[in-house]
Amino acid sequence: MVKQNNMAPKVGMVSLGCPKALVDSERIITQLRSEGYQIAPDYEGADAVIVNTCGFIDSAKQESLDAITEALDENGKVIVTGCMGVNPEDIEAMPSAVLSISGPQDVDTVMAAVRRALPLQYDPFTELLPPQGIKLTPRHYAYLKISEGCNHKCSFCIIPSMRGKLRSRYLADILQEAEALAAAGVKELLIISQDTSAYGIDIKHESQLWRGAVYNNSLLDLCRALAELGIWVRLHYVYPYPHVEHIIPLMSEGKLLPYIDVPFQHASYQVLKAMRRPASSDNTLAQIERWRSLCPELVIRSTFIVGFPGESEQDFELLLSFLRDAQLDRVGCFQYSAVEGATANQLANPVPEQLKQERWDRFMQLQQEISEDKLEQKVGQTLTILIDEIDHERALGRSYADAPEIDGCVQVLGEHNLHVGDMVDVCIEDATEYDLIATLAD
Ligand code: SF4
Repeated sequence: MVKQNNMAPKVGMVSLGCPKALVDSERIITQLRSEGYQIAPDYEGADAVIVNTCGFIDSAKQESLDAITEALDENGKVIVTGCMGVNPEDIEAMPSAVLSISGPQDVDTVMAAVRRALPLQYDPFTELLPPQGIKLTPRHYAYLKISEGCNHKCSFCIIPSMRGKLRSRYLADILQEAEALAAAGVKELLIISQDTSAYGIDIKHESQLWRGAVYNNSLLDLCRALAELGIWVRLHYVYPYPHVEHIIPLMSEGKLLPYIDVPFQHASYQVLKAMRRPASSDNTLAQIERWRSLCPELVIRSTFIVGFPGESEQDFELLLSFLRDAQLDRVGCFQYSAVEGATANQLANPVPEQLKQERWDRFMQLQQEISEDKLEQKVGQTLTILIDEIDHERALGRSYADAPEIDGCVQVLGEHNLHVGDMVDVCIEDATEYDLIATLAD
C-alpha cells in the first residue's frame, strides 16, 4: 500500500453513466491511489478533475457536457474520458479547452494526462516504489517503451490483433520516465515499440510543452529531447520511412548512439509483398547508403526471415545479394514458423523444413564472414564501452555498436578494477566472429 503523502496532488472524479463506466472510474481511482495521488471530494480541494462521461442518449450527452462545463468553471484543469471521448467534436467545440480527451477503458491516457498536469514529487521516506518503477534490467540500462500496438498487418504477425492499433505515449510522459531513469543511474536507454518510426502519428504529432520548450509528439522531437539527458540513447524497431533520414544527423552529432535497428525481414519484393511489410521499397540499399553518408560510423542491425511460404531459390539469392551489398553490421535470422492466427498460415507453397535449414545455414555463413570483416576493421580503434558483467579473468562490456542481449560484446582482458555500470575507454586488440577483444586504454 502507498502511504499517504499530504503534499501529493489531489484529483477529483465525476463519474457519470452505466456500471461499465463506474468500473472504469474505479480503475482510474485505483491507479491514482497506487501512484500516490490523493482523491479530492470536491472541486475546491482538487488540483485537477477527471470527468468520466456517458454518450448513450442525447440527454446523457447533455448531462456530460454540463458536468464538463461545471468542472471547467469551478476548477479549470479538466481531463475528459469515457464514451463521449469516442466522438470528441462536442467537447472540442466548448469555449474552454480540456487537458485531454480519451474513450472508455483508456486508463493509460487518463493517467498520462494526470501525470503531465500534476507531476508527483518522489519522497524516498514515504513512497514504496522508486519513481522509475521496478526494472528487471541491470541498473545501468533500461528499456523505454514509447508506444503500444501497431497499424500494420504483416502476414506472419498477430501483434496488431493482440495489442490493437498504435497508441503513442505523450512525449512529456515518456520524458518524465526517461528523466527518472537517468536520475536513478541509468546510462543507456533502449527505445522500443512495435514500430518506432510511427511514433506520434495517432496523436497527430500535436505540440506540447516540456521543460519550457515546445516539442511535437514526433520521433524527431522525442529524440531531440532525449538527447538533452546526456546518456546513451539507442533506437530499436525503426522502419525505413523517409523521415528517418532526419534522425541520422542527431547520431553524427553525438546526440544519439549511431546505431539503428531496422527489421528488414527480406529483400525480395515478392516475399515482402506476401509478408505485407511496411516501407518495403526497392530502394532500401540507396537509403542505407544515404544514412551512411550522413553518419559514416552508423551501425545497422536487422533481422530476417528465411523459408517464408513461396520463397523461391531466386528470392533467396536476392536476399544473399542484398546482404553482400548492404554490409549490415549486426544481423539476426529466423527460420519461418507458423504462428497460430497469422494470415501467412494460409499462403501456398510452404518451404520444406530441410530447405529452410539449408537456407538459414547459407545465410548465417555469409553474414558471419561480413561480421568478421567488419569487426576486424575495428582493431586498433579506441572505443567507449559500458561494463555489463565482470568475471575473474575479464570484464564484458558493450560499445555503441552493441545492444544488450542481441549483439556481440567487448571482452576486456588483463588486470582491471572495473565495476558493472562503469563507462571506460578501451583499445581494441583483436576480433572474433561476433565479439571484440580489448585492453583498457591508458
Ligand atoms: S511485424 Fe508488422 S504487424 Fe507485427 S508489430 Fe511489426 S510492423 Fe506491426
